[in-house]
Amino acid sequence: MPFPLNDRLGRTHRSLRISIIDKCDLRCTYCMPEDQRFLQREELMTREEIATITRLFVQRYGITKVRLTGGEPLVRPDAVGIVRDLSGLGVSLGLTTNALSLHKHLDALIEAGLRSINISLDTFDAERFKQIARRDGFGTVWANIRSAMSRGLRVKVNMVVMRGVNDDEILRFMELTREHPVHVRFIEFMPFAGNHWGRDRVYTFAEMLGHIGSVHSFEKLNDDPHSTAKAYRVPGWPGTFAVISTVTEPFCGDCDRIRLTAEGRMRNCLFAREETDLLSALRRGEDIAPLIEANVIAKHAMLGGLPQFRPERQEEVLHDLSARPMVSIGG
Ligand code: SF4
Repeated sequence: MPFPLNDRLGRTHRSLRISIIDKCDLRCTYCMPEDQRFLQREELMTREEIATITRLFVQRYGITKVRLTGGEPLVRPDAVGIVRDLSGLGVSLGLTTNALSLHKHLDALIEAGLRSINISLDTFDAERFKQIARRDGFGTVWANIRSAMSRGLRVKVNMVVMRGVNDDEILRFMELTREHPVHVRFIEFMPFAGNHWGRDRVYTFAEMLGHIGSVHSFEKLNDDPHSTAKAYRVPGWPGTFAVISTVTEPFCGDCDRIRLTAEGRMRNCLFAREETDLLSALRRGEDIAPLIEANVIAKHAMLGGLPQFRPERQEEVLHDLSARPMVSIGG
């Protein structure tokens, strides 16, 4: 019988996010620093090590939800194999991808057991896509989003909203929910090492709802327990939308998420500054369970112990941030 992985506040952790690679085929400005150094192959968890560690989390601690992230997970040649291994564990399995190469893997991913996919898209403007992602690719990504929807996958489209960059496209993204049974998530721009974050660049939760409400009337939906997003629907439309308000309205009170980096380091929060090296211990043949439990017990009440992301605390936040950029933490 698994026992609950509780932190000192009594929050039980059921959701594991695994970054399987720190490389990506895009270089989004809010995620990858200009001078990013990537891990060497031998530093990465192997397919077998990912399965071993995940199986322990599932069987010993009752993890029920696993999300594969990156960098860009589909850059890893054995990504489909990893999906196949983990879908055999009976968990709710998802993948976060930029969909740039999704057309090469979609059939195999579905055959391997994938049913839910989060796709990052921040603009419908091909030129603006190039500015944000520092590489061309809008046409391919948009085509792959439509393929994923047509194949019956549960599709969430994640848009990082940045003031003065793409906030003028929120209503365009809303049209997706008029046309398709898709879930669009508007994400407040969060601070990570090397992403030039400023509180003034955050287009806030309140502003997003005001913007949408200026054109559409919408209703609040019930949120799943532990959800990161506050969900809504325009009545009669097949799709839904949500806002992830980590900056202005953090939702740490019932957080059930823990993370594993591509080199097998455990993080008990998206903004954690302390990490626990599980992979080296595993490779030495040691029992990693005590390391996992100690890592979770030490979890801060909110935001990894960072001050709240208020304008007057910006310098403190930027000073205290983890040195790990978003690209090597994972969405
Ligand atoms: S900031 Fe950390 S504690 Fe808060 S919801 Fe996100 S992962 Fe959980």
